[in-house]
Amino acid sequence: SSSGIANKENLFLRKQRIRPLPKPHAIRKILDVVDDRMLVFDPKPAVEDEFEAGESHGHAYGIGRRRSVSGRGLGNHNSRHKEHKFIFDKLFDETSTQNDIYENTTKPSIEAVLDGYNSTVFAYGATGCGKTYTISGTRDNPGIIFLAVQELFSKIEDQTEKEIEVQVSYLEIYNETIRDLLNIETSPRKLTLLENENKEIIVSNLTKVDASNVEEVMDVIVRGNFNRAVSATEANLTSSRSHAVIQVYITQTPHVTDIYEKSTKSVLSIIDLAGCERASATKNKGARLHEGANINKSLLALGNCINALCDLKRSKHIPYRDSKLTRLLKFSLGGNCKTVMIVCVSPSSRHYDETLNALKFANRAKEI
Ligand code: ADP
Ligand code: MG
Repeated sequence: SSSGIANKENLFLRKQRIRPLPKPHAIRKILDVVDDRMLVFDPKPAVEDEFEAGESHGHAYGIGRRRSVSGRGLGNHNSRHKEHKFIFDKLFDETSTQNDIYENTTKPSIEAVLDGYNSTVFAYGATGCGKTYTISGTRDNPGIIFLAVQELFSKIEDQTEKEIEVQVSYLEIYNETIRDLLNIETSPRKLTLLENENKEIIVSNLTKVDASNVEEVMDVIVRGNFNRAVSATEANLTSSRSHAVIQVYITQTPHVTDIYEKSTKSVLSIIDLAGCERASATKNKGARLHEGANINKSLLALGNCINALCDLKRSKHIPYRDSKLTRLLKFSLGGNCKTVMIVCVSPSSRHYDETLNALKFANRAKEI
């Protein structure tokens, strides 16, 4: 019938549109979560999977048959798959919830910070892989900030021995310039990094807001996010190139009136890092990274500090001074601090190189 012919033509046209894709098997899943600690990057496909994939593409590309035959018959066919195994402290697959992530990453940091240790939580990964979702989340599925602050205040309420004060700041580092997201009127020139004799890093003139419950903190975050979005339209793509740093300052003073007791201070830093896609383009092999065109200086410096912290015996010093981010975190990385790196990756082969580099980065970071 004539409608049958029309359908065939449509089908033919559609085939033509598919062909520009770079490879016959253009998009595939490149991560195989083995268990809650191990994943395989670029796994060998099961023979049946390969055969099916070959068959289904066969109609569109006309080479599926060849692929499926070699997949079955020749032993060397699979050698093009890297099949890299990585082991992490904890692995979360697509089904994990915000609460799973919180419980297994940041919850121990809340305990550490209340014990007086600085704690830092990073989200690292390429743009679009879920950093902001992990850190901030959505109204219906709030992320780490909300869950952490909620638990912090519940622990504060549950105790009576100490007076615990909480303050919050929210800044952005873009192009090695600090911006106060709670007061965008403040000139970046006034936001200088200083170190005091108590091993605290101070950002002069940075807004710190007192908070006594989770709602007050979230209001501050919403205000900061709004200011961040405003600047993003000016400086195009700011949010993928900037680091958003939320810091929660905790001051604990024991309720002792007759003897002198100093208050203890600690900082929880929660950081939504800039997209690592440019950094991964440098193909770092663990050696000191060199800054190339347009590569985010703070992200490179963070990688170098992590490398140096991994190898304290050989590293004469940790290059904190190389960037704003690492100077800010000088007393919040390594050493006595609790540091958690959450690496967000996409399972799609479209992000093949970025994902491999992010996994390698994470693999080094875990040695600190
Ligand atoms: P990034 O901050 O790394 O650039 P986003 O967090 O903005 O990436 O994630 C990109 C998109 O994917 C967003 O729309 C986000 O809501 C969604 N997303 C990311 N991770 C998840 C997840 N685990 N579950 C559901 N949606 C997600
Ligand atoms: Mg983001």
